[in-house]
Amino acid sequence: MKAKPSRAFEHSASTASLFTVLAYIAQKLKVAAAEFSRLPGALKLAWAAARLWTALWAVLLVLQGLLPVSSVYLTRPLVNRILAAIKSGGTWESVRPAIAIGVLIAAIALLTEILRPATVWVRTHQSELVQDYITALIQRKSAEIDLAFYDSPEFYDRLHRARAEASYRPVLLLESLSGILQNGITLTAMLAVLAPFGVWLPVALLASTLPALYVVLRNTVRQHEWRLRTTGDERRTWYYDWLLTGHEAASELRLFALGDRFQTAYAALRKRLRGEKFQLAQSQALGEFAAGALALLAAGASLLWMAWRAIRGWITPGDLALFYQAFQQGLGLMRSLLQNLGQLYASSLFLGNLFEFLALDPTVLSPPSPSPMPSALKSGIRFERVTFRYPGAQEPTLSDFSLTIPAGRMVSLVGPNGAGKSTFVKLLCRFYDPVGGRIELDGRDLRSFQIEELRRHITALFQEPVRYNDTARENIRLGDQGASEAEIEAAAVAAGADEIVRRLPAGYDNPLGKFFNDGAEISTGEWQRIALARAFLRQAPILILDEPTSAMDPWAEAEWIKRFRSLAHGRTAILITHRLTTAMRADEIHVFFGGRVVESGSHEELLRCGGLYAQSWARQQEPQHSA
Ligand code: ATP
Repeated sequence: MKAKPSRAFEHSASTASLFTVLAYIAQKLKVAAAEFSRLPGALKLAWAAARLWTALWAVLLVLQGLLPVSSVYLTRPLVNRILAAIKSGGTWESVRPAIAIGVLIAAIALLTEILRPATVWVRTHQSELVQDYITALIQRKSAEIDLAFYDSPEFYDRLHRARAEASYRPVLLLESLSGILQNGITLTAMLAVLAPFGVWLPVALLASTLPALYVVLRNTVRQHEWRLRTTGDERRTWYYDWLLTGHEAASELRLFALGDRFQTAYAALRKRLRGEKFQLAQSQALGEFAAGALALLAAGASLLWMAWRAIRGWITPGDLALFYQAFQQGLGLMRSLLQNLGQLYASSLFLGNLFEFLALDPTVLSPPSPSPMPSALKSGIRFERVTFRYPGAQEPTLSDFSLTIPAGRMVSLVGPNGAGKSTFVKLLCRFYDPVGGRIELDGRDLRSFQIEELRRHITALFQEPVRYNDTARENIRLGDQGASEAEIEAAAVAAGADEIVRRLPAGYDNPLGKFFNDGAEISTGEWQRIALARAFLRQAPILILDEPTSAMDPWAEAEWIKRFRSLAHGRTAILITHRLTTAMRADEIHVFFGGRVVESGSHEELLRCGGLYAQSWARQQEPQHSA
């Protein structure tokens, strides 16, 4: 038979569980307090972004905080004066003070009405400026950090959170902060009004909202943890949406009838996320209901007590009116305060994300005292036993890799897909640093130069050039923003882009791409030539072209190569290509295989040695048999 627990045991058990709950609340509040420590950072941001508006905002806050309490405070003399006037038969002498107080209350109400739109006006300026400031910080950071960050999904999660919330969080943060300050000022004054009726009244008012405070903080933390956990899923829904609505996948989507597949995947993911969100909202609503009922109970008890005192004649009707107003408003204020606090907490959690993102530091850095860049290469580029592994990759892409490219020569890099040709270029541009070995330019380690200076000495056509939705002229000018019109046109001629541009209705001033009005869409090969012109425009001593002829027809290729040799004269040119008819024009050809150079020499030399190159050449030269 089970023994019945004694009362003493029950008592100590309930005391213990009360302590557990209190300890839990204390711990949550401690975590919340740590989050709030980011608020000075938020204010600093607001101050840096909009000094004048932030100062104005602070003044308006104080004014708006004090006005409601002054009108509440005037309620008591007003009611008492009206009663006195009624008692003395409504003489002018007795009515005048009541009218004076009434006018004062009306003036306060008018000022409140004026300040409200003024605050909206100030806050619009302030929040727009803060929003743009934060967006600029995010953009600057994205442009400055290592390319390696773009290889990590966690980075995309962080960027997504920072960007998705940057548009409204700072505004919400300022609004909730202003709400807290304004409501806080009013509430403090209200509490001061209530205190003379009994010190326990303000205490009861504050204590009655403690459960709600706990509920608000707990819900915010849960929501935040949920956001952290589901950022990847949310990004995936964005990805499906992009596939379904964007231009990039539009053709395949139609041909392979993929719309339903992606829509189903999107809907399934959204359904799960929505369900989880609803669950959170439900537990939030239940918590808020319980906390609200407790607050109501406290309010009812206090009101009953005051009514009883009024009946006994211990307080005047003016006192009762003042108390009722102050208590009612106090409750409303506490409710808004809690809401503000919840929003502020959520926003400070966002700031945590933002500051985390802004704290990402590039590891590919310029040295403190960089070496001067040689204006023209004398000896050339040398990779000396370089080993490189992409972040998170198991195997190195380049391992013990050595290659020398003499200055002023034109070399071709050929080899199968994934052999490491583009990786070689990325290392040369210092988008990544190798984990072993040295990369030298004229005998100096690449890491001894200032990065921007180094990159200014390189021009490149990447494998997937960007299609800027701007005029043809601007598309080319982006290679060298100080270039003259004549230089832009000369670069276009050299790249074989001039005739394409001249065919457009507005020539060089014709917008390209269909994203904006009046844009012309051009073919992939034509885009490639525009990008080539951009690369040619920059007069850099190192010229890198990754698959420059991949989208060119064979006639255009032959003609282009002839022109390219004269254009590249005196420069160190690196040509990455799968077309051996392009590669053969180079002074030297290097064959990449499995992250190493396995053959080097001129076209004839490589054909003679009968290796990989010779086999590929033979295959490319085979006549195309029809089936
Ligand atoms: P292709 O001829 O197809 O352009 P490539 O010779 O230029 O190929 P690279 O782009 O240098 O080859 O890629 C070499 C290897 O490095 C590939 O096996 C690829 O999987 C890997 N790789 C490339 N980029 C990354 C990256 N950002 N993160 C991880 N691995 C990468």
